[in-house]
Amino acid sequence: MAKIIDHIRKASGKTLFSFEILPPLKGQNIDNLFSAIEDLMPFDPPFIDVTYHREEFITKPTANGGVEKIVRYKRPGTVALCAAIMHRFKVDTVPHILCGGFTKEDTENALVELDFLGIDNVLALRGDPVKAEGSFRAEPNGNRYASELVCQIRDLNQGQYLHEELAMKKTDFCIGVAAYPEVHMEALSSEKDLEYLKNKVDMGAEYIVTQMFFDNEKYFQFVEKCKKAGINVPIIPGLKPLVTKKHLEVLPKIFHLEMPQDLIKEVNRATTDQAVAQVGIDWCVFQSRELKKAGVPVLHYYTMSKSPAVKEIASKVF
Ligand code: FAD
Repeated sequence: MAKIIDHIRKASGKTLFSFEILPPLKGQNIDNLFSAIEDLMPFDPPFIDVTYHREEFITKPTANGGVEKIVRYKRPGTVALCAAIMHRFKVDTVPHILCGGFTKEDTENALVELDFLGIDNVLALRGDPVKAEGSFRAEPNGNRYASELVCQIRDLNQGQYLHEELAMKKTDFCIGVAAYPEVHMEALSSEKDLEYLKNKVDMGAEYIVTQMFFDNEKYFQFVEKCKKAGINVPIIPGLKPLVTKKHLEVLPKIFHLEMPQDLIKEVNRATTDQAVAQVGIDWCVFQSRELKKAGVPVLHYYTMSKSPAVKEIASKVF
C-alpha cells in the first residue's frame, strides 16, 4: 500500500478522487457502508478517509434525585473499519486520529496498532470540544493542538517512543492535517490560523485537506495565502453536496462558512426536496469541474457514508 503523498506524486498532475466515510452508528449493519463504497470504486479512489468520533456524554436522573453522567461512543470502530476496507477493496485508508480524548500514551498505542495493520496514513486532528464541555479540553498528558499530535507522530517515525530509551522500530506514517479556507471558528485571526497551519506543516504534515466550502474563490484565495506564507504541500479541497434546504442555515453555523448568494437563490427557488437535492448536486458538479480545471491534486468528497449524490457528481466530473 502507498502513502497519500506518493499517490499524488504518481498522478503527476491528474486530479484524483477520494472519499470520506463515517463508521456506522453502533448496532447498524456494516453491509450498507460496504455497498456505498462499492458504488464509489469505479472512480479509482487511491484512498478513503474514515472519521473518528470521540465520546459523548448523556445525563440520566438517578433514583436519589441526582444526575448520572454516562459516556457513550456512538460510532466506534474507525481502526477496524480502515483495516476491513483496505483488505476488501484493496485501497489505502486514512484513519482520522484526534488529540481529544487521548493521552499521549493512548495515541502511541493507537499508532502502534495502525503500524501493525499496515496502515501508513493518518489525518491528525485536534477534534471538536465535547458537546457538554463547550470549549476544547485536552486530556491530562494529552496533545492540546493538532501540531503537537503531528510532532508525536513524527517522533515515532524517527523511532522516538514516549518512555523507551533504546532505539525502537521507526514507524512510517504519512501525516495529513486539516485547514479552513474560511478560517477555523476558534481562530484568533486568519493570520494566526495560517501561522498555526504552517506550524503543522513545519512539524511534518505532508498534505492538507480543507474543510468544505461552497465558493471556490475562498479555496483559491486560501491556496494563494498559503503559498505566500511558505506552505508548499498539496492542499486537497474537501467538498460536500448540499442536500436539504436546512443545510443553508445549519452548515454555516456548524462549519463557519458562507453560502454563496447564487446557491441560496437556486435552493429557495426549488419547490420539492428532490429539486433542492438536485441543486446541491449541480452546484457541487460545477465546483468540482472548476477545481479540476485549476489542477487540484485530489477532489475529496464528504459522503456522510451515502453514495448516490456523490456518485452522480463524480460520474459527471471523472
Ligand atoms: P488545530 O490545528 O489544533 O487548530 C484548532 C484551533 O486552535 C484553531 O483555531 C487554530 O487557529 C488554533 N491553534 C492551533 N495551534 C495553536 C497554538 N499553538 N496556540 C493557540 N492556538 C492554536 N473532527 C472529529 O472529531 N473527527 C474527525 O474525524 C474529523 N475529521 C475532520 C476532517 C477534516 C478534513 C476537517 C477539516 C475537520 C475534521 N474534524 C474532525 C473537525 C476538527 O477536529 C475540528 O475542526 C477541530 O475544531 C479543529 O481541528 P484541527 O486539527 O484543525 O485543530
